[in-house]
Amino acid sequence: MTTPNPLTNTISGNRGLQIEEPLIFEMDAPGRSGVDLPAIPTHKERLGGMKRKGEVGLPGLGESQVVRHYTKLSQKNYAIDMSVYPLGSCTMKHNPRLNEKIARLPGIADLHPMQPVSTVQGALEIIDTLAHWLKTLTGMPAVAMSPAAGAHGELCGMLTIRAAHLAKGDARKRILVPESAHGTNPATAASIGYDVDPVPADDRGRVDLAAFKAKLGPDVAGTMITNPNTCGLFENDIIDIADAIHGAGGYFYCDGANFNAIVGRVRPGDLGVDAMHINLHKTFSTPHGGGGPGAGPVVLSEALAPYAPIPYVTHGKNGFDLVEHDASGTSFGRLKGFHGQMGMFTRALSYILSHGADGLRQVSGDAVLNANYLQATLRSDLTAAFPGTCMHEALFNDDFLEGTGVTTLDFAKAMIDEGYHPMTMYFPLVVHGALLMEPTETESKIGLDRYIEVVQGLARRAKGGDAAYFQGAPYHTPRRRLDETLAARQPILRWKPEQAKKAAE
Ligand SMILES: *Cc1c(COP(=O)(O)O)cnc(C)c1O
Repeated sequence: MTTPNPLTNTISGNRGLQIEEPLIFEMDAPGRSGVDLPAIPTHKERLGGMKRKGEVGLPGLGESQVVRHYTKLSQKNYAIDMSVYPLGSCTMKHNPRLNEKIARLPGIADLHPMQPVSTVQGALEIIDTLAHWLKTLTGMPAVAMSPAAGAHGELCGMLTIRAAHLAKGDARKRILVPESAHGTNPATAASIGYDVDPVPADDRGRVDLAAFKAKLGPDVAGTMITNPNTCGLFENDIIDIADAIHGAGGYFYCDGANFNAIVGRVRPGDLGVDAMHINLHKTFSTPHGGGGPGAGPVVLSEALAPYAPIPYVTHGKNGFDLVEHDASGTSFGRLKGFHGQMGMFTRALSYILSHGADGLRQVSGDAVLNANYLQATLRSDLTAAFPGTCMHEALFNDDFLEGTGVTTLDFAKAMIDEGYHPMTMYFPLVVHGALLMEPTETESKIGLDRYIEVVQGLARRAKGGDAAYFQGAPYHTPRRRLDETLAARQPILRWKPEQAKKAAE
């Protein structure tokens, strides 16, 4: 008899609290249920030919099994509530519990979007007050509150820009998008029929101003530029860019997902922005990722405001009104059922009011300080993508891995074994083998030092010639390296008994 290796071969297949869990369908026992239902009374069939012929296909489980199943699955997740979540461009920051408490107040949590306006005056006031602060913080005169995420906000902004051009009888076709843009920017422009024209980055990781100007012409509808950009840098030529696009009759859409780096310090309206989405789930700390929905209100300039989507809140004679039909006929229409993400609005307003002006300034200051602390301490072991200081995120390339046989992907997998969610990898595309880290302001120095120690240790290990270790990582996860390409190309989304094993792999 061979002695089982205690590190891998337990009798149960479990490794301590790393408990194996089958799919819920695989635990199915026909006839088992968490509730006692009375026998179905016999009655005359009234469904015509629509009666179901087979089983419903729901797994039969008792309540305790269901609770254990989902609790075990939840423990396989990584969360901002567990540790540093350095995913660049995602602004994974702490969600203050005060916001959660406010959003769960019954008067807010139990609202229904179809209630009469007279019974939801408080909710409309929340939307209106949040709108006021978003306009104040951005220096913009109008805001469309309904978009449900950053990318949805981009769609809102671009539909607004298109409506503004069409109102002038001008069907421009081209949108200038920097090569470093978040993938959602060109995708949004293309999805509504624009031709996306990429603008190269210069060797400072910013938009090449001369190349940008050379691309301008009477068919350019506008530009979509992220600022601070996805290289974690402020676009220093932003005002020249805004002037140039306006001079050519186009509009300036700013991707404001990185507003966290400048909130309380820079007002995008002062930079010449015409439309910009704000990710409430990033800058204003409402949960995201696996933790909840997003919200992407779009602030608009005077020129674009008339084309904003319905509905919107106004101050009427008897309190707040919700405008659901556009009397002037300029609005591009409705973007979404109902009025926006009420729970996110409430959390974001709670965040803004509890921080105050000084607190919000400190948020951006600390976010930039933390990112620069990472960049400065890791610079000697990793290779910074660009010289100089950064904004809210630190960007490295894979030069430090050259000749080691270790790739950015291997490096990220080894971080999982260390108990850290990897940084953003291979993005932005303009940097080879990119590793993008955004610590946010809510990480303490102690937490960052521990993270730095791990990243430094791994970099030294890679340079020390331990490629095989990295290529085999992760070692301690429930599953090791998966065929991610196959999973993306041929996803198995529906459980069928004969595919059970395949899907579980
Ligand atoms: C997060 C992000 C987006 C998209 O926001 P979603 O809410 O995920 O749709 C767009 N641009 C940038 C730069 C981002 O970081």
